[in-house]
Amino acid sequence: MSKSAKSRKQIAEKDVISAEEQHRHGRIVFYLLLVLIACLAAGGDFLDQRQRDVIHPSFALTKTRRLSHYLSSLRDSRGDTDLYIFQGRKPGGTLLIIGGTHPNEPASNVTAALLVENLRVEQGQVIVIPRANESGFSATEPQEAFPQHFALLNRLGKEREFRVGSRYANILDGWPDPVVYRHYPSGQLLSGPETRNLNRAYPGRRNGTLTERVAFAITEIVRREKVDLVIDLHEAAPEYPVINAIVAHDRAMDIAAMAAVELQTRGFDFRLEPSPVNFHGLSHREIGDKTGARAILMESAGALQGRLRGPTNEDLVIKSVDQCYHKASQLGKLAVDFPAEGIPLEVRVGRHLTGIKVICDILGRFEPEKSIVYNQIPDYDELNSHGVGFYLK
Ligand SMILES: [Zn+2]
Repeated sequence: MSKSAKSRKQIAEKDVISAEEQHRHGRIVFYLLLVLIACLAAGGDFLDQRQRDVIHPSFALTKTRRLSHYLSSLRDSRGDTDLYIFQGRKPGGTLLIIGGTHPNEPASNVTAALLVENLRVEQGQVIVIPRANESGFSATEPQEAFPQHFALLNRLGKEREFRVGSRYANILDGWPDPVVYRHYPSGQLLSGPETRNLNRAYPGRRNGTLTERVAFAITEIVRREKVDLVIDLHEAAPEYPVINAIVAHDRAMDIAAMAAVELQTRGFDFRLEPSPVNFHGLSHREIGDKTGARAILMESAGALQGRLRGPTNEDLVIKSVDQCYHKASQLGKLAVDFPAEGIPLEVRVGRHLTGIKVICDILGRFEPEKSIVYNQIPDYDELNSHGVGFYLK
């Protein structure tokens, strides 16, 4: 081959290589752009998780406070949250309602929000925390395909949006989890992620993790405000044995037993469960042991928390119709009856509201000086005929 033909061939080969390289660079830029678009979309979703639900308190609200009022190190952290305090004109007992301990149990924080937006206290004092685990509301449970939000229509037909969060506090507020979680002060050992479970952190620790400090501040509310009765609101999977239950500390067992009987005679399936003595970190056990309050936890049945659930979307949160659970119920495999029409939010919130009312009434009968009397809260039938949204502003 002549010299000039050789150099022409080399130039042609170079052209092919540079065209291939350009093509490769183009592909890299294209994929980088795709990644950037995906990151922006996901980043928007993550930021959206940090938007707080708006609550419009009732005109009868006496005052609001932040949880950091009871532990200043929570100020400006994601552990800080709002409390709503309603005082009656007549002296009486003090009730603390804890909502949103587990932000993936929507009937809990929705019940608390409905109370804040409607409550009028005549006697005694009611303190409501709608989002006790504020950090958990800023995350979504990984690998559960939960909807990020759900919306209820209020009486004006406007949407009221609520977050579906994570059972645990946001990993960013406690990273990394230890391999084993050692509960303070009992020394009980649980798996590492339970470090971020508010209902395994009581009575909490002043200088502990964010979750321990939140639990400590809530226990401080009970001590400083001389709370007589604590009710912590939850939901659990229909296959979980402690369901549709009132779980009561030993010193609350008298009123809880009377309440369970009264609720059953009214046709509600409410079971009574004693707070396990050796299971530490739970609100009913530790607040009951470490303060003077009677401590109770209530569980309603939510398909969202279960392992057998089908499509997981807003409808499952609100209407909670699930054919898998219905079938399991027909086969007698569940701890509760799961009808074809589901267990809608009205039923779950209605159960919580009815349980709270009956427990307060019974406390007043046992100890009249600790009476807690309030009104403007819909009863179970009203809630079921109008829907939860009707009672939100
Ligand atoms: Zn729970």
